[in-house]
Amino acid sequence: MRKILRIDSPPAGHWVGDGFPVRSLLSHRAQGDSVSPFLLVDYAGPTDFPPAATPRGVGAHPHRGFETVTLVLDGEIAHRDSTGAGGVIGPGDVQWMTAGSGVLHEEMHTRSFTRSGGRFEVVQLWVNLPAAYKLTAPRYQTLLDDDIPRVDLPDNAGLVRVIAGDYGGHCGPAQTHTPINIWDVRLDAGATATLRLPESHSLVIAALDGALRINHAETVDVAELVVFDREGGEIVVSALRDTKFLLLGGQPIDEPVAQQGPFVMNTMEEVRQALADYRDGVFGVLPDVAG
Ligand code: MN
Repeated sequence: MRKILRIDSPPAGHWVGDGFPVRSLLSHRAQGDSVSPFLLVDYAGPTDFPPAATPRGVGAHPHRGFETVTLVLDGEIAHRDSTGAGGVIGPGDVQWMTAGSGVLHEEMHTRSFTRSGGRFEVVQLWVNLPAAYKLTAPRYQTLLDDDIPRVDLPDNAGLVRVIAGDYGGHCGPAQTHTPINIWDVRLDAGATATLRLPESHSLVIAALDGALRINHAETVDVAELVVFDREGGEIVVSALRDTKFLLLGGQPIDEPVAQQGPFVMNTMEEVRQALADYRDGVFGVLPDVAG
């Protein structure tokens, strides 16, 4: 079985803008290259927002050099950016944004969700890009819930929503720049599943709900992150209650990481260039909102 390297509790929560009460389950600062290509896992909520008149969220800000992957579990997010792209994602949907050479965007609760209020639960991943793709053209993939395969685990243990990579020969819809598996796993109380991921890939589990036992040994609570060895075969997960977790695996990108705020490059010189470009308006502006 694949060895557990560490189980981390997140630092205290913080707000991103006024719409995302997040806990950073994974960050490059905390787990470093052991979790490459993953740079960040921000878990927002679950939080109940009361009805309101003005949408909450995070206003215009830039990104360069990586990808943001937004998974909506509950609630609804509207996004728009300096390339003119935009859209809405709701429960079960995923937005895979390749920032690449750079975008300026905002991420807000939708007007209808704001008016109705309700349960809000969102995960945002930051996935690194290899140097060769850091300045690639920005790209969006809207992965709707209906397009994400739901694959039953053996013995009625639960199911896997395959967002990226593959489980049991069922491929997720995400197009990625490096080999990645992103599985949204539901494991029923009392059930056990054996999961096998590619050798030499980084592997983490982010627990979102319930309680897990890993490899018949370690117990993992909500908002904890399990980092596994890159070698050593399968992992065994058991659910002590109905459980929801994200499994993130990927081929490590063996390159230096220079990060400052919303820019993730290979050198600090490239980060300074990104900041200068942002200040010079190279990232563009958000289009005017009609009406
Ligand atoms: Mn953003």
